[in-house]
Amino acid sequence: MYPAWISGSVFFLFGLIFGSFLNVCIYRLPRRLSVVSPRSACPGCNEPIAAFDNIPVLSWVMLDGRCRHCHARISPRYVIVELLCGLLFLLCLLLAGPSVYAVKGCVLCFLLLGLIFTDAETHLLPDALTLPGLGVALILSFFAVVPGPASYFFPIFYPTRYGFLQIGLRSLTNSLLGAAVGSGALYAVGWLYLKLRKVDGMGLGDVKLMAMVGAFLGPALTLFVLCSSSLLGGIYGIFVLISVLRSRLIRYRARSRTQASSRAWQSAQTALRGLEIPFGVFLGFMSILTWFFGAQMIRAYLDLLLIAD
Ligand SMILES: [Zn+2]
Repeated sequence: MYPAWISGSVFFLFGLIFGSFLNVCIYRLPRRLSVVSPRSACPGCNEPIAAFDNIPVLSWVMLDGRCRHCHARISPRYVIVELLCGLLFLLCLLLAGPSVYAVKGCVLCFLLLGLIFTDAETHLLPDALTLPGLGVALILSFFAVVPGPASYFFPIFYPTRYGFLQIGLRSLTNSLLGAAVGSGALYAVGWLYLKLRKVDGMGLGDVKLMAMVGAFLGPALTLFVLCSSSLLGGIYGIFVLISVLRSRLIRYRARSRTQASSRAWQSAQTALRGLEIPFGVFLGFMSILTWFFGAQMIRAYLDLLLIAD
């Protein structure tokens, strides 16, 4: 048996490399460019980036976050994504051990990191990440069991030669149920929003994102992701409302005292209405957290019910 630090380093290094590739995806996918060719180039001077300047994290640190040729600043997002990807891959290994579950976790974290940062920068959730992600999740459900209610419907008869197949089919059913719950719930919310406020509030990108997440997590944890991200999005909205209200109040009071508070309240509401919350960021963040700690978070919440007396 090889020591644990070797597998740990391998997962971390793979995470850095995949994170580096994610940065290419985050820049190119929303612009409908190929992620394979041409080679990476500096957006400032178009000079191709040499292999030795393309080492994850290290190159950015050595070049002080600037292009070697034109000294244009390179966004710290590149290092942040690489490091996060490395650390999340490592966490997958630490929590699941060297197993299919660890690899499955890495795939999910890779996809979600890419989607979170793309949504934050461009308000887009590229199909090139969500749809293959959904496919991979359905395939992987055969090898790493997805929890869910399918066992109520398909009892397993042991021992058979096809036990593996039966478990796989149950898991696949849970994966499909998760995809249906995730995408269905978001689609319904978007439809209601359209009916009530006559504006298209939810892009189909969110629907496909949650189909993918649902296929990874199964229906129960997907519901948890939906509820907790809505809560998080709501808190973010309130935070924006309060901070706009505060800054306008200060500005209006400095100018004149007449109706400062009601005018501030009005402009804060306008700001909130115009605010396009990148909901994919919240969904993606809560999905990662739920993949790792979903069961613990739900248990902690249920424990709150028991401390009433
Ligand atoms: Zn340059």
